[in-house]
Amino acid sequence: MNKTNTTIEEEYEKCIMCGEQTNVLSSTPIEQREFFEIGCGQLCLNCYLKLRDSSNRENAKLSAQIVNAIEHINKN
Ligand SMILES: [Zn+2]
Repeated sequence: MNKTNTTIEEEYEKCIMCGEQTNVLSSTPIEQREFFEIGCGQLCLNCYLKLRDSSNRENAKLSAQIVNAIEHINKN
């Protein structure tokens, strides 16, 4: 069954902050995703917790970090 098609892989979202692959399939509807920031993107558990922690203190800084991360990814 897997003899010929060796590259059939589900596509997983990558964390927008650290680039780690998450366990969220890119085909997963946003409302069913965990650790998804509306307007930002998919986060891994670690970054999600980090962001939640920092957003409790300083929301503006958090947004700037996300923007930086997205711009960094877009450059590559
Ligand atoms: Zn991450």
